[in-house]
Amino acid sequence: MGMKVRKTMMTELRSATIPVSTYQFVLQYLDQAAEMISLDPNLLRIIKEPRKTTIVKLPIQMDDGSFQIFTGYRVQHSTVRGPGKGGIRYHPNVNLDEVSALAAWMTWKCAVMGIPFGGAKGGITCDPKKLSRNELERLTRRYTADLLDVLGPEKDIPAPDVNTNEQIMAWIMDTFSMHSRKHESSVVTGKPIVLGGSRGRTDATGNGVGICIREAAKTLGIDLAASTAAVQGFGNVGSITARSLARMGVKVIAVSDVNGGLENKKGIDVDALIEYAHNNDGAIVGFPGAKPLDKDRILEYKCDILVPAALENVITKANAGKVRAKIVGEGANGPTTPDGDDILYRKGITVIPDILCNAGGVTVSYFEWVQDREGYFWSEKMVGDRLEEHMMRAFNDVHEVARKYKCSLRLASYILAVQRVTEVLLLRGVYA
Ligand code: NAD
Repeated sequence: MGMKVRKTMMTELRSATIPVSTYQFVLQYLDQAAEMISLDPNLLRIIKEPRKTTIVKLPIQMDDGSFQIFTGYRVQHSTVRGPGKGGIRYHPNVNLDEVSALAAWMTWKCAVMGIPFGGAKGGITCDPKKLSRNELERLTRRYTADLLDVLGPEKDIPAPDVNTNEQIMAWIMDTFSMHSRKHESSVVTGKPIVLGGSRGRTDATGNGVGICIREAAKTLGIDLAASTAAVQGFGNVGSITARSLARMGVKVIAVSDVNGGLENKKGIDVDALIEYAHNNDGAIVGFPGAKPLDKDRILEYKCDILVPAALENVITKANAGKVRAKIVGEGANGPTTPDGDDILYRKGITVIPDILCNAGGVTVSYFEWVQDREGYFWSEKMVGDRLEEHMMRAFNDVHEVARKYKCSLRLASYILAVQRVTEVLLLRGVYA
């Protein structure tokens, strides 16, 4: 395996990011949203169930000549609003329940963003750390070949997720194209730019979080230039969010990663910290422009804007009462439990929910699909401008629903998602 690919895979290998129990929380919000809009229980039943599940057994020849059988999944939760869209993860814990939950999550995220996709997710139960580059390539190609009837630019479009990257997307695109006897770049997003990937995709999620926070600040009359922020996690989402906020004039005064935290009341030089982390295997500890901080204090740090951008279930009943920010922008998926969310809401803290706040990534995936289909590639500026337009529109739509129903932005985003999916379902009719 090439050093670069192996390194990326290993640094990305972490426990599966969303346990199924976290998805139970999503179901709670869905039920609440359905109740608020008095949704027909028959419709609720339909939209909760995955539309199609495919399980494949993949016999792969290992480098030593032996065969191992891997299990692969692809779940299309909904294709009502458009083709399925969602990542593929490679992880020892991948199982049908998890993939199904993540597929459904994508349905609600795409609906909130108003992008013309349903929700899907895939995965292979494997430990990519233990596979050579050749084994990984054979596994990816066989998975793709077995799913030829399921995937497609107008059927279901995968993307990278935990432990998969642009090289794996390139192999999927190539395998699919070989079998179709034509160039099919739009079958997958998150490709290398030279193969039809989009400019601006790497920074899209963090920039989207920044835009949502800016819009939330506007509605609350908060002056960003006089505001402070704390960010948990300094990986892709955390670092780009911090940079985006700093560019808006926010003073980023505390950050943390898995190894520790940093604080500087005068404001951390985020560009310098990104550079430091880049040269330091991603780690922030030891950065000379700030003092060490106990990483467990980050969520309770006194600031105006708090961005959990690392893990799920970190703001809970136990610590939500201690959150001192005015805005919580959920960069991670599922960082707040429902009891934690209730406490924040009662404290008057504005939480921008994950399915809105971190949807910049899937939005630029949509742009990649569009660019591949039109065969015309946008400049980074055009991608950034359109991302901004989409994020602002989605934020305003959610905010409007929250005002109408006098509820949190989270509940409003689920109401909007359910309305958008069921509106199309009713127009199309249920083919029974
Ligand atoms: P990443 O692997 O690039 O970064 C994760 C960061 O979290 C690292 O800095 C790591 O050190 C830190 N971390 C881990 N445990 C921690 C702890 N206990 N305390 C503080 N920091 C800790 O991952 P990412 O792509 O930035 O994703 C972060 C979250 O955002 C995940 O929940 C992911 O599912 C979600 N997300 C990512 C994207 C995307 O486009 N990358 C899109 C939507 C949602």
